[in-house]
Amino acid sequence: MKNYLLYDKALEALTRRGVDLIRLAQVVYDLQSPYQKGLTVDICHENILKVLSKTEVQHTVITGIQMDELAEKKLWEGPLQTIIENDESLYGIDEILALSIVNLYGTIASTNFGYLDKLKPGIIGEYNNKTKGEVHTFLDDILSALAASACSRLAHSK
Ligand code: MG
Repeated sequence: MKNYLLYDKALEALTRRGVDLIRLAQVVYDLQSPYQKGLTVDICHENILKVLSKTEVQHTVITGIQMDELAEKKLWEGPLQTIIENDESLYGIDEILALSIVNLYGTIASTNFGYLDKLKPGIIGEYNNKTKGEVHTFLDDILSALAASACSRLAHSK
């Protein structure tokens, strides 16, 4: 059974954080179009929404975005506030959380996630280079995970 409430909450959280899923679909398109004739950005967008329809994915999206928002409100205690706010490079919990999405979609998702995490193309890079006061420590990895998982979904549905 689909949990429409959580699906709406996850979409709403992404929208609140300014995420344009069509632009994320462009990232998926750039990665996947060399392997799939007739692929369109619209099809990539549909596949991102399919990834988002999984409850596990919704949980991760909502959790990660909440962590970023708590950091913007300076609500974490002690060193965690500084670490999350500054997106400190040795803190890997943001990647670990995002892997809970990637792990649902197998090897193709894993390799694409590594690639996106390293290169941060398009909209993903914009969330990595945040402007002052905004915290997207968790969101950039979640966007990479959604895109990587959509690539895997597309590859397997060929
Ligand atoms: Mg991050």
